Amino acid sequence: MNASNCSSEGGARVGSTSGKLAALSTRNDLKGHVTKMNASNCSFEGMAHDEAFPVLNAAEIHVAEKFGRRERLEAGRVLFEPGQQLVELLVILDGSLEVIDTSGDQERILAVHGTRGFVGEISLLTGRRATSLCRVKSAAEVIRIPVDALRRLLISSASFAEKWMMSLLRRREVILARGVEGLHVFGDRADPATLRLREFMHRNGVPHRWIDTDDQNNVPVLATLGEGPFEFPVIAWSRKVLMQNPSLPVFADFLGVRRSIPKDMFDTVIIGGGPAGLGAAVYAASEGLHTLVLDQLGPGGQAGSSSRIENYAGFPAGVSGTELAVRSYLQALKFGALFSAPCDVAEIRRAEDGLHSVHLQDGSVANTKTVIVATGVRYRSLGVEGLSKLSGTGVYYSATHVEALLCDERPLHVIGAGNSAGQAAMFLSRFNAKVNLIVRGSDLRKSMSSYLAERVQANSRIHVRLHSELRAVTGADSLKQVSIENVATSKTTVEDSCAVFIFIGATPCTDFLGDRISKDEKGFLITGAELIAKGTWSDPNRLPHALETSCPGIFAAGDCRSGTTKRVASAVGDGALAITCVHDLLGTYA
Ligand SMILES: Cc1cc2nc3c(=O)[nH]c(=O)nc-3n(C[C@H](O)[C@H](O)[C@H](O)COP(=O)(O)OP(=O)(O)OC[C@H]3O[C@@H](n4cnc5c(N)ncnc54)[C@H](O)[C@@H]3O)c2cc1C
Repeated sequence: MNASNCSSEGGARVGSTSGKLAALSTRNDLKGHVTKMNASNCSFEGMAHDEAFPVLNAAEIHVAEKFGRRERLEAGRVLFEPGQQLVELLVILDGSLEVIDTSGDQERILAVHGTRGFVGEISLLTGRRATSLCRVKSAAEVIRIPVDALRRLLISSASFAEKWMMSLLRRREVILARGVEGLHVFGDRADPATLRLREFMHRNGVPHRWIDTDDQNNVPVLATLGEGPFEFPVIAWSRKVLMQNPSLPVFADFLGVRRSIPKDMFDTVIIGGGPAGLGAAVYAASEGLHTLVLDQLGPGGQAGSSSRIENYAGFPAGVSGTELAVRSYLQALKFGALFSAPCDVAEIRRAEDGLHSVHLQDGSVANTKTVIVATGVRYRSLGVEGLSKLSGTGVYYSATHVEALLCDERPLHVIGAGNSAGQAAMFLSRFNAKVNLIVRGSDLRKSMSSYLAERVQANSRIHVRLHSELRAVTGADSLKQVSIENVATSKTTVEDSCAVFIFIGATPCTDFLGDRISKDEKGFLITGAELIAKGTWSDPNRLPHALETSCPGIFAAGDCRSGTTKRVASAVGDGALAITCVHDLLGTYA
C-alpha cells in the first residue's frame, strides 16, 4: 500500500516544538540550501492560493493599525523560529517576509509574504510554539499586533477575521501539498506506543512524518539518527533526536498542546472535544462565557475519524471529519475558548455552594460554575479470542490516515453495519483493494443510511459479507489471520488479514461519573424531563433544564446522552442547546 512505509502528515499549523527545538534551529543553523517552492511546482493555485495568502485592503490595514505598532525591519532579521513562542501577528506595510520550513534535509521556503500580506500562525491562539522560521527577505515596515490585541481585532473586524481564519485553513493545505515533514517519528508499525503518539499528533494537527523502523527500506534513514542504541519511538527534528519513548503527557507538554489548568473560576468546563464539545465551545465562548475544553486526545472525537460526512447541513459536497473539527476548533479559539489535551477526566465533585471541581487523572483540578459532559461513545470490543492481545497491532477501533498506513496489500476486515463501519470501509478502500465488510444481519440498509449503503455496495474494492461474524484473530506480535463464520451456513473460514477495524455497538464514556448521576440501562446520561419521570432529579426547588443531568449544574450533550441520534448534526445541536441551559442557570442571558 505505501511504498516505503514512511508517511508524511501535515495538520493545521498548530504543531509546534519546544525550546529544545529552538536551540536546534538558531539563525546559525540556516546554512543549508534553500529550495524555493512556488506556484509552478505546487498544485496549490488559484482561489485557494488567494485565500491562503490574502491581501488586506486599506480599511483592514487602517483597523489593524489601531491594535498594533509600526516598526521598520532590516533584511535578514529572523523574527521567529521553530520552538519559539509566538506573541504577535505581523502585518506587512511594505517589503517582504519569508517563511521557511527547516524540518527536512533541506530548508524550503514555504511562502514569501509581500506588501499588505500578513504572517501569523494558529499557535498565536493555541499558545503552542512556532513550527517554521520567519525572516525578513527585503527591508520591511510592519505592524506588530500582540496576541491580546489580535483577539480584539478579530472581534472588531469581521472581514479581517474572515481573511485570517481562512488563511489558517488554507495554509494548512499548503503544508500538506508541499510535503512539509515536521517532526519525525521513528517506530515499529506493530508498536502501540508509536501508534499512540501518531494518533495524538493526527488529532492535534501536528505535522509529522512516520518512519517505520521495521521496514528494511528505511535502514538508511534510520542510520542518519547516529549511534544508538535508541529507545523507540524516537522523536526527531531534521535528524536530530529530541525525545526517546516519551509518555503522552510528556510529549504533549513538549509540543505545548497540554496547558496547565488556570486557577480561575470557569463559567463552564466542557469535557470532550468531539462535535458536541466543539459546538458547545463555539457558542459558549462567542457568548462571552469563560470556557475550558478538556479532551483525552484532542479535538475531533469520533467525527475526526470520519473521512467524509455527507449529511451535515451546509456542506453539499460533504466535509471530512478532520476539516469540520479544525474549523470548529479555530472558531472556538477565535472567541477565546481554552483547550487542553491529553486530559483524562476522572471525577466531578459538586460543593455545597453548587460550584464544581473537575478532577483530572494527573491530579490537576479545574474549578467551574457548570460542567458539560460531551464524552461521546467508544466502540465496544468483541468477546473474540485473541482480540485484546492484538489491540493496536492489527486490531483498531478507529480508521484514520494513521491506521490506514499500517495496513499492507493483504485483505482487511471491517466489523459492523452502521454508518461508522460504512464510512470506515469506504475510506480504507482508498488504500486497500480487498476490504471485507463483515455484517451480522441480512440487510445493510437496516442499520446504515441508504446513500452510504448504496455507495458501499457499488464499491468494487469492498466485499459486503452478510450473515457473518468474527470468531477469532490470530498472530504472535501482530495480526496474521481472522476466522469468519457465516452463520447462515455455519461454515467458518480462516483468512489472511492485515487489520481488523471494529465498529460494533458503542458504549458511552460515562463510567468516570460513577453512580451519582442518573443513567439509562446502557449507561447513557438521562437529562431533563425524563429525570422527573424517573424520580431521579435532586433539586426540589426547580425543574431541570432540558439537557441537565440529575446533578444540578452538570449538563450532557451528544452521543453520551440518552435518547440522542448518534449523528454529527445532533451532537453539534446538543452542544449549542447545552449553552442555552448554562445561560438559563447562570442567569447570564443578555
Ligand atoms: C468512522 C465514523 C464515521 C462517522 N460518520 C458519520 C457521518 O457521516 N455522519 C454523521 O452524522 N455521523 C457520523 N459518525 C458519528 C459521529 O461522528 C458521532 O455521532 C459524533 O462524533 C458524536 O459526537 P460527540 O461529541 O457526542 O462524541 P465523540 O465524537 O465521541 O467525542 C467525545 C470526545 O470525548 C473525549 N472523552 C471521552 N471520555 C473523556 C474523559 N473522561 N475525559 C476527557 N475526554 C474524554 C473523547 O476523547 C472524544 O474526543 C461517524 C462515526 C465514526 C466513528
